[in-house]
Amino acid sequence: MKKVIPTLVLGALACMPALAAENKDFNYHVDRFADIEVLRYEVPEFNSLSLQQKKMLYYLSQAAQMGRDIIWDQNGRYNLKIRKTLENIYTNYKGDRESKDFKAFEKYLKQVWFGNGIHHHYSNDKFTPEFSREFFEEQVRALPADKLPVCQGKDAQHLIDVLGPVIFDPTVMAKKVNQDGSQDIIATSAGNLYGPGVTQAEVEEYFAKIKDPNDPTPISYGLNSKMVKDKDGNLKELHYHLNGLYGPAIAKIIYWLDMAKNVAENDAQKAYITKLIDYYITGDLRLFDEYSILWAEDTKSNVDFVNGFIESYSDPLGMTGSWESYVNFKNSKASARTEAISSNAQWFESNSPVDPRFRKENVKGVSAKVITAAMLAGDAFPSTAIGINLPNANWIRAAHGSKSVTLENITEAYEMASHGNGFNEEFVIDAPTRKIMEDYLYITDMLHTDLHECLGHASGQLLPGVDQDALKENGAALEEARADLFALYYLADPKLLEIGVIDNPDAYKAEYYKYMLNGLMTQLNRIELGKDVEEAHMRNRQLIAQWILDHGKKDKVVELVKKGGKTFVKINDYKKMRALIGQLLGEIQRIKSEGDYEAGKKLIDRYAVKIDPKLHKEVLNRYSKLDIPPYRGFVNPVYKPVTNEKGEITDITIDYSETYPEQMLRLSREYSTLGTSSH
Ligand code: ZN
Repeated sequence: MKKVIPTLVLGALACMPALAAENKDFNYHVDRFADIEVLRYEVPEFNSLSLQQKKMLYYLSQAAQMGRDIIWDQNGRYNLKIRKTLENIYTNYKGDRESKDFKAFEKYLKQVWFGNGIHHHYSNDKFTPEFSREFFEEQVRALPADKLPVCQGKDAQHLIDVLGPVIFDPTVMAKKVNQDGSQDIIATSAGNLYGPGVTQAEVEEYFAKIKDPNDPTPISYGLNSKMVKDKDGNLKELHYHLNGLYGPAIAKIIYWLDMAKNVAENDAQKAYITKLIDYYITGDLRLFDEYSILWAEDTKSNVDFVNGFIESYSDPLGMTGSWESYVNFKNSKASARTEAISSNAQWFESNSPVDPRFRKENVKGVSAKVITAAMLAGDAFPSTAIGINLPNANWIRAAHGSKSVTLENITEAYEMASHGNGFNEEFVIDAPTRKIMEDYLYITDMLHTDLHECLGHASGQLLPGVDQDALKENGAALEEARADLFALYYLADPKLLEIGVIDNPDAYKAEYYKYMLNGLMTQLNRIELGKDVEEAHMRNRQLIAQWILDHGKKDKVVELVKKGGKTFVKINDYKKMRALIGQLLGEIQRIKSEGDYEAGKKLIDRYAVKIDPKLHKEVLNRYSKLDIPPYRGFVNPVYKPVTNEKGEITDITIDYSETYPEQMLRLSREYSTLGTSSH
């Protein structure tokens, strides 16, 4: 719920007539290495913003960049030293830049830049250098003394001794976040959120002592601190704040937030920026909660941002926030879409194909808007989410609501960059189906996400006395299925034409085809041969697709057919498919409302888990022939102030021309706030 990650290597499909893209010739492709593609994104409408809004975006972007070193250090205690060393070798290298060793070195550096450290951003595994240790040592020795990130009196050999094992020994700091519950997940995780010698049991005991289970408004314990041992071996939290850990970076962040505050759009915005600064000064998590409430409740401002220690996926115990920043402004045209949907929430609820006893009498849609990202930073860069839903504290969400945002220009960049990657030609059955997907998949995909997030999860109710955890281990997959079915059912409803979010009654067919194709076949690409489907969203998609295939068999609603030895999804009757979607939604809502664990388990076991090994192998083979990178991320545009003779800012320009290495080296030059000693 908190964070929507692009589901797709799939995607791939649209030319999108209705898009905001300003420049047809915009080049989305920046770099390609290992399993990564780096893209750039366009910031449509930036030039039509007011000067005040541009200044605000610029100041917030500066505040965003100033935190870069924090995430590098949070990800591993040697990362800043390693970055500096590698970058100095890269820029000082006098040998053949086409040699095998140097090429391998460059690839490794690009990976490290992308991971904000020596571990893969998604798998958390340490990168394996493909250049020799001898090459590395030779290059370190060739560096001038002032290019060595070591303390006074220490030499190149010292640096080699410290970094050699960290970079080259696969057993040293092997995994950034270890989730294997049979081990001490803190002692075996290489991230820098816990100091040396700290164990999982000690941390759990520490928080058990200070947490009050009866507090209705608890702070987010551990969110902004590193846990270390003092000289007597007792645990203590080092807080991140102006005079604490990461103080030099936080001072710069505060400076630019203060600049932004002075050009804020309204008092509500000024108030939450002030509160955020106070929190950065003191590290007081009560102030962070107060800030979060003010932020969630400000739905008026056009320019908006996140800047702080937010998501806790990098903490094996899920407490400490990784530093990140998003700077953005509202996409009013596209937000009209989510507002049209939210404001009709009750109509959708009252007309849903479920037993009336399970419907909500008063449904409240989540406040949602569509935004244009202007700067990504920290843990949100270069790899980023396409949707965010904050704040994370449950009691704040319940009492004050949350903001759900869709990063439309990022989604658009993913889609545009995928165009022409051969996916459609390989997997979509025929030209007419490809055509409807090219014309309508982008918009129906967005609508699917809107309906799923704003209405799907918020729909329906439990019967009195039913435990919300009654579906146990299948709860997550069934809940995702419920939200997806709700979205799929309404995608084909004339109501969407009536409220003006779509202009063709057949558009939904694009999403229906993609959904079946993904659920029956192409998502298998992410699973190793011989394994089952595990992840909740993937189980949900297979459950829906297999159930429809099975229940539509008699009438041949959907079939798997062979063409030239290859398997294809063929949808013969879209209307009947919609009826089946409604029927399954009714059943899964019943299971949820009644807490019918057995029926839920039966559905999951029968449809969601097992894979036909022959089809699986075929999908993997066909995919491997398309060179589609599994992971993608972005470089940011560059903003530059234009000043008059008095030094006043008269405009902010935007430039997209930077390459990936140019951007990374510039960030290290201009935004190194923490030095290279280990924190
Ligand atoms: Zn969901």
